[in-house]
Amino acid sequence: MSLTFNNRVALVTGAGRGIGKAIAELLAKNGVTVICVSKSAESCGAVAADIVAAGGKAKALAVDVADGAAVAQASAVLLAEFGNIDILINNAGITKDGLLFRMSEDDWNAVMATNLTSCYHWTKHIGRPMTQKRWGRIVNITSVVGLMGNPGQANYCAAKAGMIGFTKAIAKEFAGRTVTCNAVAPGFIQTDMTAAMPAEAGEKLKSVIPLRRLGSAADIAHMTAFLCSEEAGYITGQVFTVDGGMVM
Ligand code: NAP
Repeated sequence: MSLTFNNRVALVTGAGRGIGKAIAELLAKNGVTVICVSKSAESCGAVAADIVAAGGKAKALAVDVADGAAVAQASAVLLAEFGNIDILINNAGITKDGLLFRMSEDDWNAVMATNLTSCYHWTKHIGRPMTQKRWGRIVNITSVVGLMGNPGQANYCAAKAGMIGFTKAIAKEFAGRTVTCNAVAPGFIQTDMTAAMPAEAGEKLKSVIPLRRLGSAADIAHMTAFLCSEEAGYITGQVFTVDGGMVM
């Protein structure tokens, strides 16, 4: 089955590495013009350059998604250039782990701002013209730990659970304008975020994953791209776990 994308324009946050990079590359392969956002100009610039070298259409923009004023300014510049952005992928995320009694307020706030409040800023700015055009796709990359909880990640679990509530509220607010909003909840995926895990912990983890392997960034990109396609137009307000069967 091939999916239909009709030369849309997408903005992917955290597109410099890992899951966001895989999503940007897959959308571009399907004819979507991709605006690659990351914190550093180097990482999003390299991904956009690779997409263009492969014959796709891409633009890079370094924006700190935790900075509301920077997101507002970037959105204004991009909307002036593209007129409208059809697809928004809120993927940028960080962890700052620690047991609650040792977790600083700075680490709580940084994780909230980057993972959750960034969705509020981007969706507000990019979502308005999307609703006016009466077509759009928003996908928020949450995590299975937002559904299950995880010790040492109270800030991250709260932010990811918040993204799920946000997804459902926006799905209801935007549905009348044919804009869908869904969440993808990855399990443990092989990226820089999980690379720091000791080998022993990685092996232990595999034993609790029914499919017995960590996921790849491509596993998440395939689900996300489907949710952005024309064919997914009757799906909104849902959370899709892509986790090798951990959450059943
Ligand atoms: P990653 O490899 O660490 O890449 C994170 C990306 O987000 C990078 O491109 C980074 O920019 C960007 N980013 C971080 N903070 C930012 C900020 N303040 N402003 C702009 N961009 C920022 O992460 P990943 O593993 O691909 O994870 C992607 C998403 O999936 C995250 O939301 C994460 O929580 C979620 N997730 C991951 C896993 C997993 O196992 N990996 C599991 C569940 C959920 P730079 O390149 O400039 O540093």
